[in-house]
Amino acid sequence: MDIIVIGAGPAGVVAAVRAAELGARTSLIASGEFGGMADNDGPVPVRVLAHTARLIRDARQLGQYGVTVSEPVLDYPRLLARAREVVGDVRVHSSLRQQIDSLGVIVHQQAGQARFLDAHTVETKGGLRLQAERIIICTGGVSRRLPIPGFELTSTHSDAWSLTCVPASMLVVGGGATGAQVASIFNAFGTRVELFEAGPRILATEDEDVAAAAAAAFRKSGMLVREKFGTIESFEKTPTGVRMNFSKDGRRDSAEAALVVVAVGWAADTAGLNLAAAGVELNPRKFVKVDEYLRTSATDIFAAGDVTGRLMLVSQALPDGFVAATNAVQGPTLPVGERVSPAGSFTDPEYAQVGPTEEKARATHDIVTATINFDSTTRTVIDGNKFGFCKLIADRKTCKVIGCHVIGERAVDIAQVAAIAIAAGMRVDELAQIPLAYPTHAAVLVRAAANAAQQLDLKVGWREHEAA
Ligand SMILES: Cc1cc2nc3c(=O)[nH]c(=O)nc-3n(C[C@H](O)[C@H](O)[C@H](O)COP(=O)(O)OP(=O)(O)OC[C@H]3O[C@@H](n4cnc5c(N)ncnc54)[C@H](O)[C@@H]3O)c2cc1C
Repeated sequence: MDIIVIGAGPAGVVAAVRAAELGARTSLIASGEFGGMADNDGPVPVRVLAHTARLIRDARQLGQYGVTVSEPVLDYPRLLARAREVVGDVRVHSSLRQQIDSLGVIVHQQAGQARFLDAHTVETKGGLRLQAERIIICTGGVSRRLPIPGFELTSTHSDAWSLTCVPASMLVVGGGATGAQVASIFNAFGTRVELFEAGPRILATEDEDVAAAAAAAFRKSGMLVREKFGTIESFEKTPTGVRMNFSKDGRRDSAEAALVVVAVGWAADTAGLNLAAAGVELNPRKFVKVDEYLRTSATDIFAAGDVTGRLMLVSQALPDGFVAATNAVQGPTLPVGERVSPAGSFTDPEYAQVGPTEEKARATHDIVTATINFDSTTRTVIDGNKFGFCKLIADRKTCKVIGCHVIGERAVDIAQVAAIAIAAGMRVDELAQIPLAYPTHAAVLVRAAANAAQQLDLKVGWREHEAA
């Protein structure tokens, strides 16, 4: 069987590996570089900027520990060179690249955009024409654009790579994961940042307490956070940058900065695919419509990753690629199913979640919550990073852990450990009795679990005698 995979991000690469493993003659079309947006324009390079922001913060802490250095100074062009170096390094050392090559997948790199001629034929901008029995669409997404006058004056996170210096001021429109990350990074770099969120709160998909704590921490660090700011009317050029005109309750207002970054959501990257020629339909959210086997409305075409508009995370794209390829080669037999999916963002402070927020959990379960603040955990006190908390949610009837929400140092790592407990179906008293290493950030989980167990009148053995 011949398989074509369009798009070489995490979903496409795993799909190609799986299809080849199952014996299919597999071609992988990368419009640009291998690794897709994830490796070249998303998590990997953005994380380099976030790491830099963290290094600057930590450098400022050195005096507190008796180490004398001068105030850190950022050389932005050198940082971008480092980001490029990391991107290249990740690409070279990607274990999936080695697998792709050893399995004999034909990679058409820098092939330009591929488009369907019919349900079994694709043609690339570079003139390559390929045919296959099954095709898997893994073309990811693009930053959503707004139909607002002057929108072309705004930037996306990708424009960070072409800046020559850190802008003096920046408006960030959109308080979701990407907007919060851009705002947090450039705030740390010394840019005067204003973060605009149309909804009632930033980080709308996070736990209410986590979102409120993040907004408070951002404000404390000097960022202006404007929630429920109103409706944007236009963007216009000024001598030094861009002005955003907006209105709220009939009152007009404006804000201006050297740069306006818009991060108001992610749309499927299907514009160039000519999906109509293949009979592939979009869902009402304008993502590729798929069933539980990741099959599209065209029988022989499957889709995986951001283009389907599901969780839109690398951790989701990878297993989705596996499922789509399995079903493409073997027929629709493997459903995507429900997965425990921890997620978080490396803002400062960092935040993370797994399972439902407290509000959602209360709507569907009878729950107990246990919150441990980071000013009472040994490791955070040692490191001088006492901001934050870990909130554990358990079901009162089954006593099982169902959610965990964290803000502060190593939030993502802590939520991952909670994810393992949830995936294993652990009860809070079972989690509370695991003697996690001391003093570590993740050990907060067993304290939260012990607290929840106490509320549920469960015995937690030695931990009942532990000093707080
Ligand atoms: C700023 C930012 C930070 C992020 N941080 C995180 C994070 O910390 N953790 C996390 O899990 N996720 C993060 N994400 C999300 C993550 O990057 C995506 O979920 C992931 O990349 C999706 O993988 P994918 O394979 O579906 O698509 P992509 O990685 O987008 O790859 C798709 C590829 O297909 C190409 N393509 C498009 N159209 C065509 C065509 N017609 N022909 C050929 N090729 C085509 C695209 O150019 C792209 O290279 C972040 C995203 C952004 C924007």
